[in-house]
Amino acid sequence: MMPKDNRTMREIDCSAFLEIDLCALADNYNSISEYVKPSLCAATIKANAYGLGLEAVSKTIYDAGCRSFFVSDLDEGIRLRENLTSPDITIYILNGLMPHSIEYYKKYNLTPVIGSLEELDEYRVFDKQNIYPIAIHFDTGFSRLGFDITLASKISEYKLNISLIMSHIASAEEKLSEMPENQLDQFLQICKIFNNPKSSIANSAALIRNKSFHLDMVRPGISLYGGYENLQSKLQVKPVVKLYAPIIQIKKIKKGATIGYGAIYKATHDKAIALVSIGYADGIPRSLSSSNDEMGGQFYYEGQPTPILGRVSMDIVAIDISDIPYNTINRGNFIEIIGSNQNIDNLSENADTISYEILTRLNSRIRKIYKYA
Ligand SMILES: *Cc1c(COP(=O)(O)O)cnc(C)c1O
Repeated sequence: MMPKDNRTMREIDCSAFLEIDLCALADNYNSISEYVKPSLCAATIKANAYGLGLEAVSKTIYDAGCRSFFVSDLDEGIRLRENLTSPDITIYILNGLMPHSIEYYKKYNLTPVIGSLEELDEYRVFDKQNIYPIAIHFDTGFSRLGFDITLASKISEYKLNISLIMSHIASAEEKLSEMPENQLDQFLQICKIFNNPKSSIANSAALIRNKSFHLDMVRPGISLYGGYENLQSKLQVKPVVKLYAPIIQIKKIKKGATIGYGAIYKATHDKAIALVSIGYADGIPRSLSSSNDEMGGQFYYEGQPTPILGRVSMDIVAIDISDIPYNTINRGNFIEIIGSNQNIDNLSENADTISYEILTRLNSRIRKIYKYA
């Protein structure tokens, strides 16, 4: 069967596609905005908006009211500025000030999130009058980006043009950990030292965890794209993506036959299998492979689970369709990889990874189909 809502599909429809529901995306932005009020809701759209496409995603979220965007590097910042030309947006570059590139931050009006003295020195040489706004990142326990908190007083004395001070939570999704609250406490101490700039500490998990993390601005990424849908929380987000791939061949195999590379799966009885046109080259993790000793992941056909058999290969995955009535499944039919039976959180759990990795690694070979209504 074709997927139910195939209105947006091309006429010749014979390869894997990712359907991106821009209405659900806008709804998620609105739900989060509403949930965090009076805090502002920014959007984190690094890594090509988590693989969903920077242009379509940023435009949709802008139209929903978002005016602050976080990307990771200069290239993404320039790409965003060139695509979303409204002058009223602020673009933060999370990875800070790249060496010898300060002219570009100015030219494209990009706000670096500065987190080291080297970056700050370079910036101050360039901007002696403190005209261009910057964001300052403090490390409250991540040991990744950000100034040591002991430098806060010194930095506050520089009289910089700071539009945002921020920190990042390491483990906001760990319900039992006290670390997020410790990080927040440290950050609130720093906020007192700086009296006027806006403050921000919350990613998706932190903003869901507790309202105390909302501060002036939250910066969700994955929850905009449908992550944490399973979490029991007052904030409910909608799924945004569906991933389908077509069957290229259906065949019967005999008990004892092995399937795929490494021959790690041997059929325990006669089986019907389907070969699906998608693989690790598209971003389907090899960790979804199965052997006789270890269960792997599964795809779905018309609501029925179809377990993966053997290794995921570059362009093909074999699935077990023995339980699906003969003649109700055919070559050319589409198999659900992400959809109403398996969301990005479920799939990533089966693959021993996180939804972020699944989304950002879906390859450009997969057609993106944007759904507007
Ligand atoms: C990626 C990122 C975010 C967004 O995180 P999600 O978990 O996707 O909500 C927020 N802040 C920083 C600093 C990030 O790097």
